[in-house]
Amino acid sequence: MDDLLSGALSRLDEAAKHVDVDSEVLEKLKYPKETLSVRLSVRMDDGSRRSFPAWRCRYDDTRGPTKGGIRFHPSSNVEEVTTLAFWMTFKCAVMNLPYGGGKGAVKVDPHSLSKSELERLSRAYVQAFAGMIGPDRDIPAPDVYTNAMIMGWMADEYSSIVRQPSPAVITGKPLPLGGSLGRDDATARGGFYLLKHLEADLGLDGTAKRVVVQGYGNAGFHIARLLHADGYRIVGLSDSRGAIVCENGLDPHAVQAAKELGGSVTAYTEGGARAVSETDLLGTPCDVLVPAALEDQIHKDNAGHIKARIVLELANGPITPDADRILEKAGVIVLPDILANAGGVTVSYFEWVQNRQGYYWNLEEIHDRLRAIMETEGRRVWNMRTGKGISMRTAAYAHALERLSSAIAAHGTQPFFIG
Ligand code: NAD
Repeated sequence: MDDLLSGALSRLDEAAKHVDVDSEVLEKLKYPKETLSVRLSVRMDDGSRRSFPAWRCRYDDTRGPTKGGIRFHPSSNVEEVTTLAFWMTFKCAVMNLPYGGGKGAVKVDPHSLSKSELERLSRAYVQAFAGMIGPDRDIPAPDVYTNAMIMGWMADEYSSIVRQPSPAVITGKPLPLGGSLGRDDATARGGFYLLKHLEADLGLDGTAKRVVVQGYGNAGFHIARLLHADGYRIVGLSDSRGAIVCENGLDPHAVQAAKELGGSVTAYTEGGARAVSETDLLGTPCDVLVPAALEDQIHKDNAGHIKARIVLELANGPITPDADRILEKAGVIVLPDILANAGGVTVSYFEWVQNRQGYYWNLEEIHDRLRAIMETEGRRVWNMRTGKGISMRTAAYAHALERLSSAIAAHGTQPFFIG
């Protein structure tokens, strides 16, 4: 089995040790409900035709329509899509959103396509999966290398197929096409609300609160911005081209401006900032490390270098199971992805609710609702962690598993049927 998926399933097995769950429930959660593989045939600008492998997986829909992004990436594959759909199932259950988990991908380097080719590919994806997605069935969203404009094309294509405007089929749309306020920084903001709520429990109040952020894209920039504004000191940042550190603290807006001009955070050289290797970045003494890049970035060979006390996982799956054990032994508290980055899907949920009710909330309402959910579920996971003496990750999975289990068991399991 693929390493990524077996790593994800190992976390389910671990969580199952701590909750009362029927073996039927675990059996059901070990396999995806439905996966469709297709090839998208797209006319290129030069008149030729190319075909791209594409997938959509609906992992489990016991708690509601499946929800999860669409990724356009040259190394996408069906195992990765399945694992991401599994994570979404648990993420939606942690947050008590009325959704199951899904995911989709196209194996393509979108940067090699013209804008018109990208639009034709996006519309071809919806034509191929129109029978699978739908506002009450499966609701995609953006993921790596897909964006609001692509979501807008996809909603438009789906609306043409069903012959009525259907904005609730997809979230992460541009604002004028039914997008939600607050979606752009929702992932980072959710992580920020979680960290703030647990500050005292994590021993973060009254310390220097130094932060290192790995990955300076959407999630990375916004978390650096929010923490900096709250008085945290950003002492290290990186992107795919390099890393910088500065003990005196970095201004996220100034670094972003330098990155826009120079193509990388390493273009920022003010105030004592200096370029370092990615390994040195991870080894920078800090209170909070925020992985906000891609999967598997912290593994058994570099986990031992980490000097953070707390890790806030904004990326999906940034820590391998091996590395997780190393960090746990070292006493590092990991606020896990399925909780810490769930602000994104939560505001996606708000977008879907607003589309369906045809009534839109202001930014303050979005932030208040997001904060309430992050605090409620974050506190429940924290209490389970302390009550059972387990890691935050296992507690988050166990918390989600309790919800999934009670939903699956509500249809009856063997003990019910044999009396
Ligand atoms: P993004 O493409 O905007 O940013 C990714 C950043 O990571 C880029 O700056 C890139 O240069 C950097 N990067 C890539 N490889 C790196 C490496 N090896 N070392 C250091 N930096 C590296 O993507 P994003 O939307 O910010 O997503 C980042 C992560 O957060 C992904 O794992 C994504 O699945 C997860 N996530 C995002 C959202 C969201 O709403 N944006 C929601 C949930 C989870």
